[in-house]
Amino acid sequence: MNNPLIDNKKTAKCDECGSNFYKKSSKMAALCPECSHILYGYEPCKHDMLNGKCTMCYWDGSVSEYIKKKISQMFVIKIRYIGTRQFFCKFNFAG
Ligand SMILES: [Zn+2]
Ligand SMILES: [Zn+2]
Repeated sequence: MNNPLIDNKKTAKCDECGSNFYKKSSKMAALCPECSHILYGYEPCKHDMLNGKCTMCYWDGSVSEYIKKKISQMFVIKIRYIGTRQFFCKFNFAG
């Protein structure tokens, strides 16, 4: 009855992106590892996608509009940061 292997495979539906995920794979009961990482900074899953599902957390690649926005904001900040670094590098080594 209380088989931990079966328990590991119990899935829940993510409140944010709507994907199913293994309950044990996420720190949050209502969010998949992907969303809990982006929204709350929890350890991300190193997704291993097979046939459109992650073999480790069962996430199916769904991304909500809100998460998309968050990711693009993070991306812009990263680009700005890298851009500034390159600028300083050029500035320092140009002559
Ligand atoms: Zn999610
Ligand atoms: Zn995963």
